[in-house]
Amino acid sequence: MPIEPATRSLIQRAAKVLADGGVVAFPTETVYGLGADATNADAVLRVYEMKGRPRFNPLIAHVADLETAGAHGCFNAPARKLAEAFWPGPLTIVLKRRAESRICDLVSAGLETIALRVPANEIARGLLRAAGCPVAAPSANRAGHVSATAASHVAADLGEGPDFILDGGDTVLGLESTVIDLSGPEPLLLRPGAIPREEIENILAAKLGDATTPNEPTSPLSPGQLASHYAPRARVRLEATCVEPGEALLAFGGNPLPTQGLVVNLSPKGDLREAATRFFAALRQLDDSGCAGIAVMPIPGEGLGEAINDRLRRAAALRGA
Ligand code: AMP
Ligand code: MG
Repeated sequence: MPIEPATRSLIQRAAKVLADGGVVAFPTETVYGLGADATNADAVLRVYEMKGRPRFNPLIAHVADLETAGAHGCFNAPARKLAEAFWPGPLTIVLKRRAESRICDLVSAGLETIALRVPANEIARGLLRAAGCPVAAPSANRAGHVSATAASHVAADLGEGPDFILDGGDTVLGLESTVIDLSGPEPLLLRPGAIPREEIENILAAKLGDATTPNEPTSPLSPGQLASHYAPRARVRLEATCVEPGEALLAFGGNPLPTQGLVVNLSPKGDLREAATRFFAALRQLDDSGCAGIAVMPIPGEGLGEAINDRLRRAAALRGA
């Protein structure tokens, strides 16, 4: 599958591929998405198959604007507030699904809710506008693998799968969207992500409940929060205070641990935003070096650190068969 730089005419072509039931990988400001027309069950099924994603793990529906989102989800006052504050942007809102929405059941994996997002990336927005349909798009990587923050990562992971890969360069944020559930009585943080919890709590003037502990695979609340995810091939060891033989080092801050081996520093100046941007590419680079393990230095838990540590815990979790 050729990787094509996302010119205006290629965005139009990609939109046509989507509208005809094809599968298109495209950049967003968070990670690359693997998109299909959310109203076309056959196309959505291809996305699940291409990713090897379990069918109980629902997809995010991407739309061009808040008005379109309102045709698919039942917006309440907090949802409107968050959408106005953060859309277009890296926030996904889970709402009760409208009965008249044409998004197919496969997208929400049979749940009565729907996850909606209006991305900010101009290529993604152009694609959504031109396609004229909601686009179901999980991250463009094999299920459980490290997310793709460059078109070349998509090609490496999904090979000939997508009908089209729109190349928009490296993604600017590098971590997935924050997922908030507003379908129940209490706002819940389903997945920490590119917008820190504190910023969302400020807008809502309320604390977010937590649903971020890894669930059993069949738990309906946030089916994607599986214990093992974002997993490189190499064993990942967290909170490292030394580097063991055979290990590469994922460092953070001005005093990396001493080692003769490969080191990638997420942010020598200790900036969590910079670390988030580099995170998935760094994991890939270390993993591709063929090291037996990856030692990870402690990373502070506040702000974007919550999402980075969440991904690290899943990357380190023991995998099932
Ligand atoms: P990804 O497809 O990798 O971007 O991940 C999307 C995340 O949103 C996964 O963790 C899904 O489980 C979660 N998600 C999508 N739809 C829903 C929904 N209706 N209810 C709860 N979580 C959802
Ligand atoms: Mg993903």
